Amino acid sequence: MDRKVRVRFAPSPTGPLHIGGVRTALYNYFFAKQNGGDMILRIEDTDQTRFVPGAEEYIIEALTWLGIKFDEGVGIGGNYGPYRQSERKPMYKQYADQLIATGWAYYAFDKPEELDAKRKEFEAQKKTFQYDCNTRKEMCNSLTLPVDEVRRRIESGEPYVVRFKFPTDTEIHVHDLIRGEVKMNSNLLDDKVLFKSDGMPTYHLANIVDDHTMEVSHVIRGEEWLPSAPLHVMLYKAFGWEDTMPQFAHLPLLLKPDGNGKLSKRDGDRLGFPVFPLEWHDPKTGEVSSGYREKGYFPEAVVNILAFLGWNPGVEQEIFSIDELVQLFSLDRISKSGAKFDVEKAKWFNHKYLQAKPNEEITLLFEKDLAQRGVSAAHDYVFAVVELMKERVSFVSELWEQTHYFFQAPTEYDPAVIKKRWKEDTPAHLTKIKEIIQNTPFEKQLMHDAVMEYIQSNELNMGQIMNSFRLTLVGAAKGPDLFELITMLGKEETLARMQKGIETIKTI
Ligand code: GLU
Repeated sequence: MDRKVRVRFAPSPTGPLHIGGVRTALYNYFFAKQNGGDMILRIEDTDQTRFVPGAEEYIIEALTWLGIKFDEGVGIGGNYGPYRQSERKPMYKQYADQLIATGWAYYAFDKPEELDAKRKEFEAQKKTFQYDCNTRKEMCNSLTLPVDEVRRRIESGEPYVVRFKFPTDTEIHVHDLIRGEVKMNSNLLDDKVLFKSDGMPTYHLANIVDDHTMEVSHVIRGEEWLPSAPLHVMLYKAFGWEDTMPQFAHLPLLLKPDGNGKLSKRDGDRLGFPVFPLEWHDPKTGEVSSGYREKGYFPEAVVNILAFLGWNPGVEQEIFSIDELVQLFSLDRISKSGAKFDVEKAKWFNHKYLQAKPNEEITLLFEKDLAQRGVSAAHDYVFAVVELMKERVSFVSELWEQTHYFFQAPTEYDPAVIKKRWKEDTPAHLTKIKEIIQNTPFEKQLMHDAVMEYIQSNELNMGQIMNSFRLTLVGAAKGPDLFELITMLGKEETLARMQKGIETIKTI
């Protein structure tokens, strides 16, 4: 019988969610929805020393903003809860005990300073210490100590950890849906800590127990977890859960834009783009890291950007809604090599989404920006400005820079334009053109024709006149078609700006 697809996104609340993590959540979501499965949100907070206040709330807010919906989990509930590992604490010990009883794990009493001494001893020989099938024989554990001594230590409350006991000389196979067969010799693997005497499991134990008890069918996660996969596969074997072991898919890393190494938390603000979905205020250091939301990205664009970082549908079209991505997604088309983050491409996606949005929606967003700047204008006017100018921007926040002169007369004039265009006879010609505007019906084409007629019949330099004219209205050599702008500004404002320019701009 085919198993019901159940996937989980299992972040640790150790800080804000990196976009690599968001992409993992997204791919899990695509996969679950495409297969009519369940998507679980599990919070992996067994390492209390790394707990960061606000991180869990941040993760939930970010995923909600992006439209990644969960069927079960923290904040939602479900039949397999609780979904926060710290609340599942009492259930893990029995599993550690089971592995001890079956010989798949052992107690280790080595003190931190003893482990340190070992590490130093190995370093002195230019080797790296690893607690494994070769070294465990020389350490202080239930494999080397007499049985009653082990019992005495535990009963007297001596701190211990439970370590997994890798078998020797065994080839461990991990079948990965993206990378195929990955093999690892057990002799090279570290006897990882599974459980600590404070009653807390480590990530490895809790993760396997939870995936099993929550009936997870597929583990889709970042490639950084591939080295842990042999241990995980062995844990399923040790527990006798091989038959229902989830299938693994390890996603390629997100790389820096130049492809040199993993995209790190610090790269974003250093290279001018966010690596976090939402702005993050570090509660300890007060440091602020930028977020896609606050930078003005639309959530649909971020979903689209991330979907294409490590996967593509193999067709030319690049703009897809989240529901379309659910239909198209396939694990087969995930690349094995790392995906380079491309800032320009990210902006391009946002540009496309902005263009496709109804002008009314952009107008409402722009009005908020205007209000913050203390600029007020009629809704229809802002709408018309948006309609005319939105093509030039990728973010609503860029609109002001492109359109301020629709709302405020220039107070300064670009000296480079003055130098190039403003000649001794410019004020005289603009005065004439001003009269023409005054006396022509206020209609775009008619004004255009009348001004052109003046320029041509006087054999004037078109670029010079038109750019000087524009300078009086905009203060710079930018903006939409001049007659379009005039119609927007209205007759009175146009004439007033021309007059002011004629009076104040001096040749340089
Ligand atoms: N808690 C792990 C993380 O933060 C989850 C890894 C996994 O999905 O197994 O990435």
